[in-house]
Amino acid sequence: MQCVVCSAPQSRGLTDWHTSCTACGYEGAALAVKINAKRDGAAVDELEREVGLKSLRQENFRDILHVVRKHAQPQARRLLDVGCAHGWFLETAKEYFDVMGIEPDAVVGNRTASRGLPVRPGYFPDALAPDESFDVIVFNDVIEHIPDIAAALDACRARLSENGLLVLNLPNSRGFFYRLSTIFARLGWHNPFNRLWQKDLPSPHVHYFNPRNLQLLVARHGFAGVYSGQLPSLRAKGLFERIRCTGDISGLSLYLQYLAVLCSIPVLSAFPSDIMFCVFRKTNPGEALPVMK
Ligand SMILES: [Zn+2]
Repeated sequence: MQCVVCSAPQSRGLTDWHTSCTACGYEGAALAVKINAKRDGAAVDELEREVGLKSLRQENFRDILHVVRKHAQPQARRLLDVGCAHGWFLETAKEYFDVMGIEPDAVVGNRTASRGLPVRPGYFPDALAPDESFDVIVFNDVIEHIPDIAAALDACRARLSENGLLVLNLPNSRGFFYRLSTIFARLGWHNPFNRLWQKDLPSPHVHYFNPRNLQLLVARHGFAGVYSGQLPSLRAKGLFERIRCTGDISGLSLYLQYLAVLCSIPVLSAFPSDIMFCVFRKTNPGEALPVMK
């Protein structure tokens, strides 16, 4: 197997389904995607867990939109949210853009469309009409689930207007919790590592990037980086709800856990976050790319 970023041969990683590239640090997973397969208990739990994340996601989406608006062309109007899930990003973005979402999970997509949000069922780019194009294309926790990421990036380039923006919000392999999970996996405890790859869920992660190798990959598909930053994976706002949603704990232990996590937030901010967020601009044909450091 070749690295999707630099084409170097991939080495076996920490499990039989995990691979890593010693040349650029890209990590991949041979995990099968089973969206719209019959839902089992785990998938339903996942929907509930998502609700616990709503507050964190909405805060992060506001930060993303602030950066997008700063870098978008003044005339930018049309925004596509690929894998829009519950429509939380669409709800925030529709204040500034003409938004549209695509969602492959029929149950989630129908639920979102029933709230009056413009959601089309299916996959990107197949769900689009041949002549549809956009000024901004956003992937919130989505690009790391797409096996043929090269084809997805080429489709983004084809569907973006001149100087259009590609926005990627995704897990960071340099993140504190991911690195911790790899240490645990080496010691034989695989649960946190499997969880971060979303192994056994209908749509597991199949890629793990860091800011550098992501930039290398995207540049090969005709994009120049305009912003690279990170978003917190924990925020004080909504934290209590999130903890209450994730476990079956209650009473005093719930409050103690909340307090412990709340106190850890300032400490965690000293380490790289597990969520990175990058904005790229579609380059013009023949445009010289900036030399990457
Ligand atoms: Zn590589």
